[in-house]
Amino acid sequence: MNPFHPSPEACDCCGVTPTSPLFLHTISYRAINRRFCTNCVLKQQQGTFCPICFELFNDSFIPNIHLMCIRCPSIAHRSCVLPSSTPDFAFLCPACADPNFSYFKVDRRGIDFHANKVLAAAAQISANTLTRAAVAIRLDAERRAMVAVGARKKAIEALELFADVAAKEQEEGSSEQEDDSEQSQISHSLLFLERRQMFVCIKGFAVVL
Ligand SMILES: [Zn+2]
Ligand SMILES: [Zn+2]
Ligand SMILES: [Zn+2]
Repeated sequence: MNPFHPSPEACDCCGVTPTSPLFLHTISYRAINRRFCTNCVLKQQQGTFCPICFELFNDSFIPNIHLMCIRCPSIAHRSCVLPSSTPDFAFLCPACADPNFSYFKVDRRGIDFHANKVLAAAAQISANTLTRAAVAIRLDAERRAMVAVGARKKAIEALELFADVAAKEQEEGSSEQEDDSEQSQISHSLLFLERRQMFVCIKGFAVVL
């Protein structure tokens, strides 16, 4: 791929069309992916990298090691700014010191060592946001899977309860039927007995007669 073939996309922040797709990075923020140029990535992520050596920070601000810009959240290594700086040294980051400052400057001659470090920092920030987004998506998928398992368990319990109630009702219905048929058998027997007695009586009467 020709690194200086203009990107077909523009930066979602400043609108510039980078001279190469390599200089456009995907940043995931609150589950939304946006495409930013190298300069905009670093401008929006001040405080996560040293603006002098472009090393990304893994730890939080440590006063003995870091300096914070007096105008923005940018943090730099104390050793990169001024090795012998005093604790009350007022640090002004390059972006605040120069209104026309751009983190990333590259011309058609190629990418120099400094630009390469800046590009690597922006690419790493992009990768970190995407990794965090992927972890968030995986955790959300796991949470949804657990909710689905819980819902399925509840549905099975509800079906089992329904089956128990239905079986009980059927049992009660059949015992009532049995009671009914027993009752009718008794009634028929009584009727038969009554008829037989009547016949005997009639026969006796007839005999008597
Ligand atoms: Zn931009
Ligand atoms: Zn540094
Ligand atoms: Zn600043």
